Amino acid sequence: MNIANWLHDTQRRAPQRPALFDGTRQVADYATFAAHVRQRAACLVDQHGVAAGDAVAVLMKNSCDYLELLYAIWWIGAVVVPINAKLHPAEAAWIAENAEAKLIFTDGGRVLSARDLPLRCKELDGHALPPTRGWPTLEHPVPRQASDLAWLFYTSGTTGRSKGVMLSHGNLVAMSLCYPIDVDPVSADDAAVYAAPMSHGAGLYNFIHVRCGARHVVPASHGFDAAELFGLATELGNVSLFAAPTMVKRMVEQARRQGYRGEGIKTIVYGGGPMYLADLREAVETFGPRLVQIYGQGESPMTISVLPRAVIADGQRVGWASLAASVGHAQSCVEIRILDTHHQPVPAGERGEIAVRGATVMHGYWRNPEATRQTLVDGWLLTGDIGFLDPAGYLTLTDRSKDVIITGGSNVYPREVEEVLAQHPEVFEVCVVGEPDAQWGESVVAFVVTRSAQPLDTAELSAWFLTRMASFKKPKKYLFRDELPKNSYGKILKTDLRQWLKEASIAAVR
Ligand code: AMP
Repeated sequence: MNIANWLHDTQRRAPQRPALFDGTRQVADYATFAAHVRQRAACLVDQHGVAAGDAVAVLMKNSCDYLELLYAIWWIGAVVVPINAKLHPAEAAWIAENAEAKLIFTDGGRVLSARDLPLRCKELDGHALPPTRGWPTLEHPVPRQASDLAWLFYTSGTTGRSKGVMLSHGNLVAMSLCYPIDVDPVSADDAAVYAAPMSHGAGLYNFIHVRCGARHVVPASHGFDAAELFGLATELGNVSLFAAPTMVKRMVEQARRQGYRGEGIKTIVYGGGPMYLADLREAVETFGPRLVQIYGQGESPMTISVLPRAVIADGQRVGWASLAASVGHAQSCVEIRILDTHHQPVPAGERGEIAVRGATVMHGYWRNPEATRQTLVDGWLLTGDIGFLDPAGYLTLTDRSKDVIITGGSNVYPREVEEVLAQHPEVFEVCVVGEPDAQWGESVVAFVVTRSAQPLDTAELSAWFLTRMASFKKPKKYLFRDELPKNSYGKILKTDLRQWLKEASIAAVR
């Protein structure tokens, strides 16, 4: 089934139901939403020659147009390649090229330079609604099989190379159906607010809200602003949103400043990175029983485990602290196992690599059979996360074996930052690690050995870095060393560097 059928069904049943909101202003009901989607779909086919199975990239900030574009692309059976709007244009261009995208939609249509734009790929303004006349419109979405590709999502790999995660219409349907069963029931009175990037998990929560005829709200700031969010919730009511733990922390701070207690918010789904217990306690004290945690990854989007609202809110329950520190139990359509290094299951309580099997698990990495073979083993997705299951099936994450740094909810892979810094003529050796950061969750720290053994001007180094990579990946700190600690194979010991940072921060507060 084509997942765009859900929009088709809802607009037939409830054409006048409010659909798209720019801030508190309604910009489309479901009939208008679907009409715009058909217009855009017709233009894709007739003016740009996009066919079923073709890839179309979207490099845009959150907007109502974003949702229309997604559905237009699916309506004709094509594949969406969502690209994080915070990426450097050169990184975005690399993704568009690797995905063999025919078109790339951007804010304004002039984001990529002619030099960056891949051959045979055209850049278009995603906000330009094509005229109705001229092109025949498709009344129904083009039929698709459950296994047909719908969402080609690029997640950075530790090898430094971005990989395209292939998610099918069937994956997206399964993910969406888990939401009302495991995370939160949805009704037509709900409002999904997109405070986190639509190119990532937050955007994927659109489907179940389309299916149920709910409202879709893009904050006027097109991003995350806690005070704005509270205003929207108070005015619109029944608001649900996805937020990274660092966003929840900022919401709590703002709520305390203005005496807000969660009025108008139905549910805050958090995940994507660890939430510290002290922060969770404060969030529950501030917002009451409004929080649900999910654990997922691009390869099984938003859908590995869930820590339900009732567990999080019940602070009096015996053993609450260990349950609240877990990521909950398996969602309905997946099984979870913990594997040893030979990929054999280990008993409850023992640590190992978290593996997942089920209807949300990706079909593999785009044009990368080697990475697919290493990650999908005997039908199980190896997540690269380390954790353990308790006897009741609650999963606790203990480490991220991939060393990913999660800063402000965005993933930064040390290797790709290292690759860039290593290109600097004065840099001899470099190693990047994450450091706990009260505001951002983690921040990027680069240990650098220079050729001259003299420190570099960090402002200059930062400026140089920003000509090559997105600013959220920029190291917040550069620490110059004479050498880096290594094991007997010559591998740099990141654990030693992290330990050094920890000791330095303890010494600093003494
Ligand atoms: P991504 O593929 O960008 O969504 O990143 C997925 C990774 O984020 C996972 O493999 C975990 O390491 C981490 N992650 C996701 N959800 C959680 C969570 N609830 N708690 C802790 N870490 C998480």
